[in-house]
Amino acid sequence: MPQCQGTTKKGDQCKRDAQEGSSFCAIHVDQAVRARSAPTSVDWDRDSMLKAAIGFAAVGAILFFRLRR
Ligand SMILES: [Zn+2]
Repeated sequence: MPQCQGTTKKGDQCKRDAQEGSSFCAIHVDQAVRARSAPTSVDWDRDSMLKAAIGFAAVGAILFFRLRR
């Protein structure tokens, strides 16, 4: 019986045995569904959005002042 691939609330890997025909135990089957419906997409949370915006603004400002000279 393979080990469950789910993660506990603490962030550790689940130590329970996976269910037959699944890589997750009964508690973490919902994680399997979530992993399938949400593939590794770029996660644009507020923090990275802000960093990107500041980055673009900085580059824009540098180009603007260079062109004016
Ligand atoms: Zn589990």
